[in-house]
Amino acid sequence: MTVTPGLRAERPPAAAEAWVTLVTNADYALGALALIRSLNRVGAAGDRVVLHTDVAEADLAPLRDEGARLILADLLPTGAAFNAAHARDALHARAAFTKGAKPPFHTPLDNFVKLRLWQLTDYRACVFLDADTLVLRNCDELFAYPEFSAAPNVYESLGDFRRLNSGVFTARPSLATFDAMLARLDVPGAFWRRTDQTFLESYFPRWHGLPVCYNLLQYVWFNLPELWDWSQIRILHYQYEKPWQADHPRADRLRPLIELWQGIAAGGPIPDLASLPPPPGP
Ligand code: UDP
Ligand code: MN
Repeated sequence: MTVTPGLRAERPPAAAEAWVTLVTNADYALGALALIRSLNRVGAAGDRVVLHTDVAEADLAPLRDEGARLILADLLPTGAAFNAAHARDALHARAAFTKGAKPPFHTPLDNFVKLRLWQLTDYRACVFLDADTLVLRNCDELFAYPEFSAAPNVYESLGDFRRLNSGVFTARPSLATFDAMLARLDVPGAFWRRTDQTFLESYFPRWHGLPVCYNLLQYVWFNLPELWDWSQIRILHYQYEKPWQADHPRADRLRPLIELWQGIAAGGPIPDLASLPPPPGP
């Protein structure tokens, strides 16, 4: 097992490939538990890695029990000006979220810890999954996809296809890449308005496009119902409001998706997706 600054793994890897997620508080630990249960349900190959910061053992233990390899991760060594620019209030004031609401437990600066995936050089290939995703069908083929593959950030209109969403992506760990990223990330005056997502889009301008079924965003359900296809969906992504938030402004409109998440989070099976209702019409 390689010793890497900023990372402390509690056990060695058990495979050459890994699904990697990030957890910096108890809320995202809930998300990661549902995600890992979904990976187990679809019989995914490879390790399930949880990069985590200083989160309570009681919140991490269920992840370990589901087979996750826990790796304690430091925040990136970014400077004071960078951290101030990406603090929650500063970022929300400078680049307000107008399309949906970020939950109160979302800390933008924490997102950059995702980049530590490139330090996981024990693995030949990794797929990063946000903790608010569910793998609904086996996607092991993604380990054969090149770096950097991601799906478009589509949830409102055609123009969205120009942008990538960093909730699902394929990567090849490499310390050279990690060091090059750090050098590009924290430059004087840097402001990445959508944090790691904006940075990765800039770092990989020729990103490979995955079909939307590998990262279908929950707002497609009510904004672009013609894109929704239960027979094709592979990874569902609950961007903005989270399915475990007690109540949120879009909960009524997203009810079938929230119930799907709750069933898997509780340890239930993945239902027969073809039997699920289509989105309501406009
Ligand atoms: N994350 C985290 N703590 C935070 C913010 C983000 O652990 O305070 C991780 C978590 O894996 C999360 C991902 O980073 O799924 C990206 O954030 P989120 O999914 O909330 O962003 P969205 O998909 O809504 O843009
Ligand atoms: Mn997300």
